Amino acid sequence: MRKKIAAGNWKMNTTLLQGIDLFNEISIRLNEIQLSGVQVIIAPSFVHLAKFVSLARLNNSICISAQNCSHEEKGAFTGEVSPEIIKSTGAEMVIIGHSERRKYFNESDELIEQKINLSIKTGLTPIFCCGESEIQRSQNQHFNTIKLQISKALFNLPPTDFCKVIVAYEPIWAIGTGKNATPEQAQEMHHYIRSLIEDKYGMHIAGATPILYGGSCNSENSDALFKNPDVDGGLVGGASLNAEEFIKIIRSLAAN
Ligand code: PEP
Repeated sequence: MRKKIAAGNWKMNTTLLQGIDLFNEISIRLNEIQLSGVQVIIAPSFVHLAKFVSLARLNNSICISAQNCSHEEKGAFTGEVSPEIIKSTGAEMVIIGHSERRKYFNESDELIEQKINLSIKTGLTPIFCCGESEIQRSQNQHFNTIKLQISKALFNLPPTDFCKVIVAYEPIWAIGTGKNATPEQAQEMHHYIRSLIEDKYGMHIAGATPILYGGSCNSENSDALFKNPDVDGGLVGGASLNAEEFIKIIRSLAAN
């Protein structure tokens, strides 16, 4: 059976103290509920990774992820953070290819592929994001867009490395807009993504790959989204900054 995953992307939010308060609130509530097989991930700022890794070790059920990494291994790249540096904090995962990185920092599929390769080589689990714009969907280009993003960034991986990837489908028009994909739209695209993986790597790997939904996921819509057979969890932005809301989302994932 595939893993169910609830990942909170805190983006460029929370000071260290605010983050610690939020993390502790989430941990305490998580300890109070019965988590049946849900992996909870939190992606705070780079600067706070080591702190949250040490807090997570006390709690033991939360996994810490970075939100980005460099495509370079090391050297004179002022301000960049390599997968090796991330790994040295104890973080285990890294979000790669988020649409905000593609849009504001001009990240190309080629650059994203390099980041994926380097993160896997370093031993980090990549959470690879893909998603179409509103215009691409209105022009019926959404399937093609996702196919290109996935095949360019992931399909050069050998099967032994592809197995380490978590995929997140995040339609750009749904991120931070309050307008989530309908459960039908999410299932249709997740099923399509799984079929692409099956064509490339076979049924076994396709069946084992976690595919998360992201884009205005909240406690009101999570239940309907997670009921879908190909939706294995959520990558949650805004709603993960509220402990009560994030816990409700985790609960609905556990229940589905
Ligand atoms: C995200 O940034 O990955 C995201 C899904 O954001 P939000 O939940 O706020 O739409």
